[in-house]
Amino acid sequence: MTDSVSFHRNSENVASYRCKVVEHRWVNDRYKYLRLSAQSDLASATRPGQFYQLKCPVTDQQQPFLLRPMSVYGVGPEPGTIEFLYNVTGVGTKAMSSLAAGDHMDIVGPLGNTFVLEPEFKRILVVARGVGLATMAPLLPYAASCGIQITAIMSAREPKDMMRDEFLRGVSAKVHCVYDNDGSSDVGAVEVLVRRILDEAHCDVVYTCGSHRLLMLLQRVLADYPRTRGEVAMEQHMACGMGACLSCVRMFDIDGDKQFLRVCREGPVFSVRDVVGEVEFG
Ligand SMILES: Cc1cc2nc3c(=O)[nH]c(=O)nc-3n(C[C@H](O)[C@H](O)[C@H](O)COP(=O)(O)OP(=O)(O)OC[C@H]3O[C@@H](n4cnc5c(N)ncnc54)[C@H](O)[C@@H]3O)c2cc1C
Repeated sequence: MTDSVSFHRNSENVASYRCKVVEHRWVNDRYKYLRLSAQSDLASATRPGQFYQLKCPVTDQQQPFLLRPMSVYGVGPEPGTIEFLYNVTGVGTKAMSSLAAGDHMDIVGPLGNTFVLEPEFKRILVVARGVGLATMAPLLPYAASCGIQITAIMSAREPKDMMRDEFLRGVSAKVHCVYDNDGSSDVGAVEVLVRRILDEAHCDVVYTCGSHRLLMLLQRVLADYPRTRGEVAMEQHMACGMGACLSCVRMFDIDGDKQFLRVCREGPVFSVRDVVGEVEFG
């Protein structure tokens, strides 16, 4: 990624890379950390919010069809190094979890647009749940390097699932952890918390990813805070990941103009205000 914090949208330097697995380990019961290295400079080509399509290995039990989209969790320090943090859920990610250091993996990217982080921002709020934190983690060092204050709401099922250190990676932020098992992650409770944070100090932007429930909550709240921008990285099932197959289209409402957009190509980052939650047909 570059030193600049004002990211550009839709970079066009997509390529296929043969990478070597450098590090691969469990972070907790469900998530694995994967570090790959390539001969090319992936770091300067890749920006926060973008993703790669990963070719999962064929194993005795699994033969994954299609590549799997994964957000970039980090890059560097060497220019060819790229990191992913992923939930082991189905056929592809289970096969992926079998990779050992020294194995090879083919990846395609960087794909999609990026979050926008302007250097003149004073304060940002990030609202993360589950894999969403992998997508938003790269924003934090950039914000910190510009002196931007960071407040984070992190949501998880229970304390053992909370990947606070994996999210912050040494960046200082005011963190509010909320959990399903004590009710603090309930929509009503999080709404009160978000409103309190936005009332206490103006936030230039709220970023989110990883939960439709949180996205809809933020859309509702931001209607009352017109000076605060909202950006969401959408997670939509997709096949090609580069705009050709149209499997990931969703409806958006851009200033009253209803449009179908490809999450992989026009996104995955969209304005929170533009997302159409439910589409009614007929
Ligand atoms: C832009 C983007 C970024 C993502 N970043 C991350 C990340 O950083 N970490 C992470 O853990 N997960 C991330 N995901 C979700 C991840 O792609 C899926 O969990 C993964 O594809 C599941 O594959 P599977 O074979 O294990 O599951 P299966 O359920 O067996 O998959 C079957 C098919 O459905 C698709 N699919 C299943 N779940 C999802 C999903 N939630 N989103 C999109 N496609 C899905 C798969 O790609 C595959 O083609 C991201 C998704 C998108 C669209």
